[in-house]
Amino acid sequence: MHTPGTLHIVATPIGNLGDLSPRALEILRTVAAICAEDTRHTRQLLSHFGLERPLLALHQHNEEAQAAQLVTRLQAGDSLALVSDAGTPLVSDPGFRLVRAARAAGVRVSPLPGACAAIAALSVAGLPSDRFVFEGFLPARASARRERLARLAAEPRTLIFYESAHRIEEALADMATAFGAARPAVLARELTKLFETVLDGDLAELRERVAADPNQRRGEFVLIVEGAGDDADAKLIEGRRLYAKLSEHLPPSTAAKLAAELSGAPRKGLYGGG
Ligand code: SAM
Repeated sequence: MHTPGTLHIVATPIGNLGDLSPRALEILRTVAAICAEDTRHTRQLLSHFGLERPLLALHQHNEEAQAAQLVTRLQAGDSLALVSDAGTPLVSDPGFRLVRAARAAGVRVSPLPGACAAIAALSVAGLPSDRFVFEGFLPARASARRERLARLAAEPRTLIFYESAHRIEEALADMATAFGAARPAVLARELTKLFETVLDGDLAELRERVAADPNQRRGEFVLIVEGAGDDADAKLIEGRRLYAKLSEHLPPSTAAKLAAELSGAPRKGLYGGG
């Protein structure tokens, strides 16, 4: 049984419907209504399990406006569930504004944990997992994407990205440029589904395999990239990035001095690093 007036954040499967937990089903069966990113999609999921509940659309375009009304309903005693199309709500999906509004109003918000593509991929990647950064989707525009990647080049923690089929090749190419072609990475595709594949290698190898096989460009992807090596490597990468930027506006010697100071890298390693 759910507690009246609770907002339940319910994870749904990322492919395999068997991953919906018995407790998730119980909550979805008993709440007054389910807030869903795409009501048609969620109706299909519910009907697969023989459930029928009122559905309310909550997506990025109406979330701010809907949140106040939903909080009023929660305060009046109705329990609600929030689901997204796949996986854990709020993870590269709508919901944070609703959760923030509910918490601010003193409404109980309770998680129903389950599938999350980022964590599922990390759990099979075999890359360091004690510390990691979730970067979600990269910007669609090439210049913004490259800028974001350049900023991440010195990050020592394992990096997790979401990527869509039509940009996977570009993303791998830009990552090889920003992080170096030899950086270890894992491409996790169609997790929990029929064509699940987990490829590992360095960024150059992954790029080649994806370019060579159209099947490897289909479906949904999580891309996991090992962090920049030891501290000295990371400082050098950051120093080179800063040098490249600063030397657009300053004489090379001044740019190198500043870049070395800001990054902690030795000055002479900065030239020619791109
Ligand atoms: N909230 C979801 C979660 O918890 O993983 C993520 C939603 S986000 C809009 C969708 C992205 O997640 C996809 O573009 C893909 O990068 C990743 N994704 C979702 N399902 C996946 C799967 N079965 N295998 C690999 N990646 C998946």
